[in-house]
Amino acid sequence: MTERFTGNFTQQEPIPDEGIAAALDVLRHGRLHRYNVAEGEVSQTALLEQEFAALMGSKYALAVASGGYAIATALRAVDVGPGDRVLTNAFTLAPVPGAIASVGAAPVFVEVTEALTIDLDDLAAKVAEPDAPKVLLLSHMRGHICDMDRLMEITDAAGVTVIEDCAHTMGARWNGTLSGRHGAMAAYSTQTYKHANSGEGGLLISDDPDLMARAIVLSGSYMLYERHLAGPPPEAFERVKYVTPNISGRMDNLRAAILRPQLAGLAERCAAWNARYGVVELGLRDTPGLTVIERPAKEGYVMSSFQFLLLDWTEGDVQDVVRHCAERGVELKWFGGAEPAGFTSRYDSWRYADVPRMPKTDRVLRGILDLRLPLTFSLGDCAQIARIIRDVVLRVYQRAA
Ligand SMILES: *Cc1c(COP(=O)(O)O)cnc(C)c1O
Repeated sequence: MTERFTGNFTQQEPIPDEGIAAALDVLRHGRLHRYNVAEGEVSQTALLEQEFAALMGSKYALAVASGGYAIATALRAVDVGPGDRVLTNAFTLAPVPGAIASVGAAPVFVEVTEALTIDLDDLAAKVAEPDAPKVLLLSHMRGHICDMDRLMEITDAAGVTVIEDCAHTMGARWNGTLSGRHGAMAAYSTQTYKHANSGEGGLLISDDPDLMARAIVLSGSYMLYERHLAGPPPEAFERVKYVTPNISGRMDNLRAAILRPQLAGLAERCAAWNARYGVVELGLRDTPGLTVIERPAKEGYVMSSFQFLLLDWTEGDVQDVVRHCAERGVELKWFGGAEPAGFTSRYDSWRYADVPRMPKTDRVLRGILDLRLPLTFSLGDCAQIARIIRDVVLRVYQRAA
């Protein structure tokens, strides 16, 4: 008997009832703009920022329109502009090089390792080059966190500013420190497929008053920055307010209202994702031809998706695995495909950037398969998904042998 999975890989959980009630309240009073408050009222957006800063242990937080906007705002805040070059991961998602391009800068891609993290040897070589970029936009792609202690040693020694893209690591840790607390600024996404869901949205954190004052003015504060509960003191704004453009990308109170209860339940959801990840990992371990990504003991990951490698397989065999899994209801994304599809675009599809070939990255990308693990899947669903993948991989592998 061949099993078939019938679940939906893109179905997230509903918004918590508390968030729905708070959203209805905002709709009824009509004050959706974050700075539109009644006498004595504190806006949902300002409260969200205060709660997110407390959750992350950062001094400051800013809520914005998207994760990509949060990244671009961080780049502007650290003064990246037209003609600059920015180091970033070759294995990441399109909004990351897109944010770099949006400020007129160009990405300098760093290779990826078989652990799916940034190659620190390649990074060390690139920061040592003459005219090396002064900013690293570090993407914790798909929740894989590199050795952050070594990364910060390399970047600190070279005077490189780190901005973290934590779109997939909200709630994760390296050696006990929350992801996003190593760099000068960190950006998060609250788009539907990330760790909190407001449809679209982003968050930015920092401990640096000047960077955060710039980010708040950039986001479109209309000089109403005193209404922020998680912003720096007024003097920080005095230093930047005349020289920082307004590039509107604020969050609104409706999204903030549905996010607040989700943040309160983040730890619980992170544990639920990891339980699902563990079941798939166990089910795929020791499958001939398939490489499970080994996670370092210092990495406190949160995995809302699962990746494995079919390293050095032929393109045809990988495509057979994807096709046979799809026939049995298991949706795998392949990062090695020549054409960007869905969420899997490759560095060489970002042709607005001038990039050299990256042999190491190409080999890894050709082998990466990726699946989502929404919390609407039960542990039993995850076990079934792993059985199907294992069965398909074994059949194709044995046929190829
Ligand atoms: C989703 C995502 C972003 C940005 O997200 P938005 O869709 O702009 O909110 C940034 N980096 C990575 C790796 C992502 O997956």
